[in-house]
Amino acid sequence: MTDLYLCPAGWELYDKWDTLCRNNVTHEPTPEEATAENDAWTAYQDHRAKCKECEKCPER
Ligand SMILES: [Zn+2]
Repeated sequence: MTDLYLCPAGWELYDKWDTLCRNNVTHEPTPEEATAENDAWTAYQDHRAKCKECEKCPER
């Protein structure tokens, strides 16, 4: 487990991205998989940028 400090919604987005990456065991994602991972990561970053709960957490 990482030392991230996120609100529940932030964790949900992080888990979604993390699950996509973990399911990609070959580390050679198809374009579709790469897009899904990127979208999930962007959604997570967007949330952190806007969320007051996640915002006050130290970056690690
Ligand atoms: Zn948040």
